[in-house]
Amino acid sequence: MTDTRSTCPYCGVGCGVIIESEGAQITGVRGDPEHPANFGRLCTKGSTLHLTASAAVTMQTRLLQPMQRLQRGSAAASVPWAQALDVAADRFARIIADHGPDAVGFYVSGQLLTEDYYVFNKLAKGLIGTNNLDTNSRLCMSSAVAGYKKTLGSDAPPSCYDDFKDAQCLFIVGSNTAWAHPILFRRIEDARRANPAMKIVVIDPRRTDTCEIADLHLAIQPGTDVMLFHGMLHLMLREGWTQPAYIARHTSGFDALERTVRDCTPDQVAKVCGIEPSALIEATRLFANSPSTLSLYCMGMNQSSSGTAKNAALINLHLATAQIGKPGAGPFSLTGQPNAMGGREVGGMANLLSAHRDLANAGHRAEVAALWGVADVPAAPGKTAIEMFQAAADGEIRALWISCTNPAQSMPDQATVRRALERCEFVVVQEAFATTATCAYADLLLPATTWGEKVGTVTNSERRISRVRPAVPAPGAARHDWSAVADFATRLEARLPRRAPGTLFPYTLDDPAGAQAIWNEHRETTRGRDLDITGLSWALLDTAGPQQWPCPEDQATGPATGPATGRSLGKARLYEDGVFATPDGRARFHNAAYQPVAEARDERFPFSLNTGRLRDQWHGMSRTGTLGRLFGHVPEPLVQMNGQDMARLQLGDGDLVQVSSRRGALVLPVRASTEVGPHQSFIAMHWGEEYLSGQSSSGERIAGVNALTLPVFCPDSKQPELKHAAVRILKA
Ligand code: SF4
Repeated sequence: MTDTRSTCPYCGVGCGVIIESEGAQITGVRGDPEHPANFGRLCTKGSTLHLTASAAVTMQTRLLQPMQRLQRGSAAASVPWAQALDVAADRFARIIADHGPDAVGFYVSGQLLTEDYYVFNKLAKGLIGTNNLDTNSRLCMSSAVAGYKKTLGSDAPPSCYDDFKDAQCLFIVGSNTAWAHPILFRRIEDARRANPAMKIVVIDPRRTDTCEIADLHLAIQPGTDVMLFHGMLHLMLREGWTQPAYIARHTSGFDALERTVRDCTPDQVAKVCGIEPSALIEATRLFANSPSTLSLYCMGMNQSSSGTAKNAALINLHLATAQIGKPGAGPFSLTGQPNAMGGREVGGMANLLSAHRDLANAGHRAEVAALWGVADVPAAPGKTAIEMFQAAADGEIRALWISCTNPAQSMPDQATVRRALERCEFVVVQEAFATTATCAYADLLLPATTWGEKVGTVTNSERRISRVRPAVPAPGAARHDWSAVADFATRLEARLPRRAPGTLFPYTLDDPAGAQAIWNEHRETTRGRDLDITGLSWALLDTAGPQQWPCPEDQATGPATGPATGRSLGKARLYEDGVFATPDGRARFHNAAYQPVAEARDERFPFSLNTGRLRDQWHGMSRTGTLGRLFGHVPEPLVQMNGQDMARLQLGDGDLVQVSSRRGALVLPVRASTEVGPHQSFIAMHWGEEYLSGQSSSGERIAGVNALTLPVFCPDSKQPELKHAAVRILKA
């Protein structure tokens, strides 16, 4: 038996795993006791990874050969790699020649490795000359990013997992940590056991399992977070709980915000948020007066039409009370996917460039062009996720390359997304699994490696870079995403006007050395940037273990200050000196007024619909859905409602109901739940067409909860409001 150290591919906690294998077979998995994210622990998903790997083989759900579909709706036939990539290069080159570079787009994934992301970004922005590269991280973390940048000046979570044990008050907002980040929740439980005086406040419209550990739960009305935070600041000012000296020395913009929160009185907050003024006062007192307050937050804050304002309003509270830059204090966004942060590090989004550079900054564009050896990087912003599929539905984008994600299930407003895929002239789907809904729309299917086979790096929620290592060879003809894309890119180079004297993709294909060369190139782009990792190398990650950024060159030989399991070389906590990543070094208070949800409840659609994760399932279930035991927790799709509403509608547990929004309808069983407040409902995000099909309002067949959700997004982050839609619920 062989042991291989790697990283769990599910959530942003980034737990270390040891993969057990015999020959080409993954036989077991256990937590890596030396990984500083989990110290050997794994949750139900992580501890069954080996079973999902073997189930995929038994159930033949893996995509093992490149497949071409000559006509939509017909069966796909296997083709050799060279032929598949030549077809793709011909079609992309023709569309670019006829309609310009912005007629193509790339939609990738927070589950790709940093090396995969880097090559996609260079292909789109360096070779083709389009910024139409976006990712499902847009659905995940972009509001957290925009919130950090607007206030602290940089896309860098300032806290770390070690802060849990130092926090005297944990303020958990819009996060069911117990289910979505289980290993972090174990650390919270440990911290509480070690320090019973620690106070925990949970802000969430639902009474989730996370609330079981809370001293105080504020079940606010959906989408009212900004009003709550402004009301807290109002109270802090009234009671003298702010830190004027810190505000004066380290921040700017407080006066304008002070005027905005003047009207957010406790009575007003109670009315809008639906909570008792006494609960508001208690939450505010704990936040402001605890020696150290750490906020943990996730999709409830991000997936909102005012996601950036929510994030920034919470960070405002940390700045106003100096609860930042010290052990156990600070705002700390929990990353949804395993490598959402790594994607941003290489600039893998429509508005970013390598190493957190901004596309809108001419100097940054010139720096990246020089690093890549191309004349320029296009200035026009690319289409973000929702915009990209809308542009495809409108005929503006004619070719889409989709990698490691399933937009035909996961994007809001499924009817538009499926229309976009149908209208596109050429769709490439690069996937490990042949069963995703998006595969049905592909003209070309390219088999990708997945967990246990891939090689590269990922970055977790606390800025920690971990190695991903292969335990078994790629099955069939599957290839690493970066390798297939670099192969395609060199073929496309030969068909487009030359951008550089040599190839932009000089990597040894299908070889770990190629992935390492890509990482080294990425590392060089970070020199002097906020995420500088010039002090790291794959060799150092192998010997010293996973490391946090920043870790510039002169820090690489630093003292062995980390846990016994490895040397900690990077910076665990940011802004300890009170100097922020803004031009003047001062953090900026963000002044945005409260805006209600985009689609309010009304007489026709009187219920709020919330969507989210289950404990034992992951995304569209392409991996977790292959294992029976992961259905033990929640065996079937259902809509949760409050018991009072069910009694009023004369519904009983298990009755079939039709849940309709302005965009579509689903039929599924209903169950009474004390988690859900009156006039609210909840459906898990995971169930796709095998489990939950429905109809769009114009009669098309669609599936999953995103048949109901809406494509409205935050104007700053462009992240859609997946956490709220107005629905009607009637007996079916
Ligand atoms: Fe994997 Fe997340 Fe579970 Fe850790 S907490 S084992 S990273 S799913």
